[in-house]
Amino acid sequence: MNSNNHCLFCDITQRKIPSDIIYEDEFVVVFRDIAPKAPVHLLVVPKKHIETIDHLNKIDQALIGHMILIAQKIARNENISDNGYRLVFNVKKHAGQMVDHIHLHILGGKPLGTMV
Ligand code: 5GP
Ligand code: ZN
Repeated sequence: MNSNNHCLFCDITQRKIPSDIIYEDEFVVVFRDIAPKAPVHLLVVPKKHIETIDHLNKIDQALIGHMILIAQKIARNENISDNGYRLVFNVKKHAGQMVDHIHLHILGGKPLGTMV
């Protein structure tokens, strides 16, 4: 939520604003990043509003596991699995988190270099 009690990714998951959604189930949606940093750049976003990974609770454990397994499935569908890809959660300001609704980045389709 921003200061107006409004959340961009809640709007996208609820299809109130359009995006390039490529997958949806009971718990998550997956859509293409509007400003891709790699040939394949997707976001796995839970329908539940959770601000950051720092706000996660034990009850969300299965949801996070589900997000990672969906990322695995989508990566295979996008043909980036054989060469590999990166999964990223940015957490709060030092990591550059811009949208305060958790999202798992899937990045692939080219060598990504090493970050850590
Ligand atoms: P963060 O920096 O919070 O980890 O990542 C937010 C991501 O959301 C960025 O990669 C940014 O390009 C993407 N993004 C921001 N606004 C929109 C939007 O309206 N639609 C889509 N599809 N992606 C967005
Ligand atoms: Zn939200």
